[in-house]
Amino acid sequence: MIRVLVWNEFKHEREKENVAAIYPDGIHATIAEFLGKEDDIEVRTATLQDENCGITKEILDETDVLIWWGHMAHNKVPDEVASLVRDAVLEGMGAIFLHSAHHSKPFKLLMGTSCNLTWRESSDSEILWVIDPAHPITRDIDRYFCLEGEETYGEPFVIPNPDKVLLIGSYSGGEVFRSGCLYERGNGKIFYFQPGHETFPTFKVPAVQSVIRNAVRFVAPTYRQVIACPHVRKITDDEPYVIVKK
Ligand code: ZN
Repeated sequence: MIRVLVWNEFKHEREKENVAAIYPDGIHATIAEFLGKEDDIEVRTATLQDENCGITKEILDETDVLIWWGHMAHNKVPDEVASLVRDAVLEGMGAIFLHSAHHSKPFKLLMGTSCNLTWRESSDSEILWVIDPAHPITRDIDRYFCLEGEETYGEPFVIPNPDKVLLIGSYSGGEVFRSGCLYERGNGKIFYFQPGHETFPTFKVPAVQSVIRNAVRFVAPTYRQVIACPHVRKITDDEPYVIVKK
């Protein structure tokens, strides 16, 4: 089983009627619902309102993939929590950062850049173009999928060059954006996925759910271990594993 923790700051849904109308139980609940239908995925949720944001080392030790949505309260997440997330990713935990989580503390820590971008809330629609149709994350999409409405994100997106760009978003307003970006940091895999503005039912769109489902399986750890920095002896012929030299 892949143990997923869906983290949401859960503020817009409680404070704005138009958002509550789309996600009455929160964005995290919608994501947990569709992921929870998978036989190989086990889902828990946590929010900013939980003690310590619902994130401790023990909880992360029992998490294979952390999904993060945040927007208006990034600064309410303690630095210590962001560091715990970073350390867990370096060990091998998978992480998926959705939409405005580009400015979340853990994502910025892992990227090391401002993660700034250009943006506009308008009536733009978006086409997400698949760059690598063979990749496990995007292989269920044909050439592209469309979102009737989504917040416009545009370049420059101030991130390190991704290991792989899987999706390019193009908006009816003209902008383009690197909408699906893969990274490795330490032993951990990270996927940034742009769709998911709170005033649109984006997380109910089958293609979006498919990408997130596939991303969970792709970033799930295959190896989880702290990469330490030990002082070691020189290998000598006495070492049993030097046998390969004979
Ligand atoms: Zn947004």
